[in-house]
Amino acid sequence: MSTLMRATHSFTKLLSPSSRSLSLRPSASLLTRHQMSTEAENVITRLKNSGLLRSQGLIAGKWVDAHDRKTIKVCNPATGEVIVDVPCMGQKETNDAISSAYEAFYSWSKLTATERSKFLRKWYDLLIAHKEDLGQLITLEQGKPLKESLGEVSYGAGFIEFSAEEAKRIYGDIIPATLPDRRLFVLKQPVGVVGAITPWNFPLAMITRKVGPALACGCTVVIKPSELTPLTALAAAELSLQAGIPPGVVNVVMGNAADIGDALLASTQVRKITFTGSTAVGKKLMAGASGTVKRVSLELGGNAPCIVFDDADLDVAVKGAIAAKFRNSGQTCVCANRVLVQEGIYEKFANAFSKAVQNLQVGDGFTEGVAQGPLINEAAVQKVESFVKDAISKGAKVLLGGKRHSLGMTFYEPTVIGDVKSEMLLSREEVFGPVAPLLPFKTEEEAIHLANDTNAGLAAYVFTNSIQRSWRVSEALEYGLVGINEGIISTEVAPFGGVKQSGLGREGSKYGMDEYLEIKYVCLGNMNSN
Ligand code: NAP
Repeated sequence: MSTLMRATHSFTKLLSPSSRSLSLRPSASLLTRHQMSTEAENVITRLKNSGLLRSQGLIAGKWVDAHDRKTIKVCNPATGEVIVDVPCMGQKETNDAISSAYEAFYSWSKLTATERSKFLRKWYDLLIAHKEDLGQLITLEQGKPLKESLGEVSYGAGFIEFSAEEAKRIYGDIIPATLPDRRLFVLKQPVGVVGAITPWNFPLAMITRKVGPALACGCTVVIKPSELTPLTALAAAELSLQAGIPPGVVNVVMGNAADIGDALLASTQVRKITFTGSTAVGKKLMAGASGTVKRVSLELGGNAPCIVFDDADLDVAVKGAIAAKFRNSGQTCVCANRVLVQEGIYEKFANAFSKAVQNLQVGDGFTEGVAQGPLINEAAVQKVESFVKDAISKGAKVLLGGKRHSLGMTFYEPTVIGDVKSEMLLSREEVFGPVAPLLPFKTEEEAIHLANDTNAGLAAYVFTNSIQRSWRVSEALEYGLVGINEGIISTEVAPFGGVKQSGLGREGSKYGMDEYLEIKYVCLGNMNSN
């Protein structure tokens, strides 16, 4: 990890909860700010009435505070206003949650697959029945436009539905025996208690993508959502209780990330850590898991190339690149981080792309028509600013945007930067913001080389009208996911995950189930006797 990456990462993480809420306070003089907070207040009132605005952790089926009553503030990133205080939990509460999950594991894992499937189906139905509430909650604490939040609810709930269906298909194997008096078979059994640590950028889907398959396989979970966005996790947990999922099967703790992480790592009762987040924290968890030899799944950072070839359909490429880059204001692990454009189409693409990006409306996620919400916090904006500054100082050209939005605070202008080179920070690391760097290239070989010249390997996008090239390039890309002529490719029915330092394991699809299963070989001997 480079010094700057470490610096920007720690800068984001080291903002204490209280300093974060202070630093985000909006200027009261702005009318727009006032309008935003009124909308948010209405949403908070509606959520309180629906019983989904939970502000305590969930341990053994009970809503609890931190043992020392410490709290952290959860803020609306669009306005800086405090939504609610939640408990700042640590080792003690995590150990309680682990004990509760461990106790619940015995009975949950003994249920039939059909019984577990029914619970999951009920949970899915409730998530969908509360789609509007959950979508509003996501926009409130994460900032993304409401339309995207509603999309996340459907996507996130999809993992629970898929897991409900797949629970019934966790088959073992019969192996042809090597000796006549033996019978050999393979059982698939749940791993045990799972610690699930998730980030703020998809407050629902990153949880359901782990918890759905874990529960389907018979595991129980301790979830640790990001302290920035714990409310959606708590609402989903509330709905799991309403679905009848027994106390202790789903637990949620939040607060001091390092303490919670350490407790999960140290416990011999936790048999698996599943993590989505930054590569830096993922490496720490992987090292920490060695102490008790836990299973580990890691969904880490990306540096997605989006390759536009001369033979691409320009409209398809522009639309796809915008979807891949600007979703969630550029704050997804699969966001196009580098747009590589072949020189024959470079000018045309740069013009059409910049024109389309200019039309992206920036504002509070609750405002109709807004396509770009705020970044998660001030530190995220500062990181984007530093990357853009680095590129300009090394000769890149700002084609559009390139500065904070006039709304101020956490809003940054959708930005296109031309003539970016591979040594610039924008090419080397995740910008995690609404900045599209364009890198010209000459040949297919050069594009593949540039695309693979990174330690990350999560998602890649290719725009071409050649079927031969799409096969060739897909095979050559060192990435876990490839989108051809499409900018949004994640779905619960397909495997999601990275290669190289983007992670270990897969989530979603039938492959995602394996992450929560142990394989047991059983040999029956003396089978020829009566
Ligand atoms: P992060 O800083 O690594 O945080 C992720 C989670 O880890 C949060 O819950 C965080 O808690 C927790 N955490 C932080 N330090 C920890 C520690 N020492 N022990 C245990 N847990 C710890 O990442 P982020 O900034 O929230 O998320 C953005 C990153 O996630 C990006 O790199 C993005 O690419 C990646 N991501 C990857 C995928 C994927 O599927 N590959 C999907 C989404 C995001 P607190 O927030 O409470 O501090």
